[in-house]
Amino acid sequence: MFVDSHCHLDRLDPDTHGGSLNAALEAARARDVRQFLAVAVTLEDVPALVELSRAHADVAISAGIHPMQKLEVEPDIEAIKEVAERSGAVAIGECGLDYHYLDKTPERIPSRDAQRERFRRQLIAATELELPVIVHTREAREDTLSLIREHSDPAIGGVLHCFTEDLDMAREAVRHGFYISLSGIVTFRNAEALREVARRVPLDRLLVETDSPYLAPVPYRGKPNEPAWVVEVAECIASERGISVAEVAMQTTANFYRLFRAAAPEPSAEVREVLARAGLV
Ligand SMILES: [Zn+2]
Ligand SMILES: [Zn+2]
Repeated sequence: MFVDSHCHLDRLDPDTHGGSLNAALEAARARDVRQFLAVAVTLEDVPALVELSRAHADVAISAGIHPMQKLEVEPDIEAIKEVAERSGAVAIGECGLDYHYLDKTPERIPSRDAQRERFRRQLIAATELELPVIVHTREAREDTLSLIREHSDPAIGGVLHCFTEDLDMAREAVRHGFYISLSGIVTFRNAEALREVARRVPLDRLLVETDSPYLAPVPYRGKPNEPAWVVEVAECIASERGISVAEVAMQTTANFYRLFRAAAPEPSAEVREVLARAGLV
């Protein structure tokens, strides 16, 4: 059983699978992907995600604001908490810092200060709600780690999603109760540094994700991504570590439910076995 720990189900390409999200989910289920975490990039996304999770028992959702979103009004901590609680979100996010485009197109994204303040509010909201955080971080290593150290509770933790940094940063995040989630980027030819992360981060700290519709893995690179292809990410990790895909599937699924406790479904026998491995039953 696989989990796609981070996908944007509300943004899947309408031309894939004849425009049907159901077909994309069915294609994933047919490959044994049994749990999806549909991640918000603004609070306005959340009602649509709630509809999705009502329609599909295997879809959990998050509530949060992406660092690159331009907003008219910046939600305060109470507003973030209220949306998260009302929606049944299992996590706050995705939130974080992304400085990549700041030098090129500063007018199109929030400033460093604005990003830091938005991230800080979401970390505090998560700590107060005792929910894990889904963190997006790019070219903002020191600021990301210092805000996490200051405002995140290691007993609740979170995940650095679509991880593209180095082993040192991964280890520092793990020390603070975080998991490392690898996406299709790990399969890209030029991603040797990331494959080192895949080999060396403890297996009980790894998650897998697609971040679909973005970042399709090899051999689908360049196409709109979909949750079924989380299997290719797991296969890459398995081959890097010299272990079976089944072991990666089992471990990353157990890790997912250990971190996102509220996503744990009505336990079937198979899910119960996974939860037992995660020490949850
Ligand atoms: Zn992201
Ligand atoms: Zn994302």
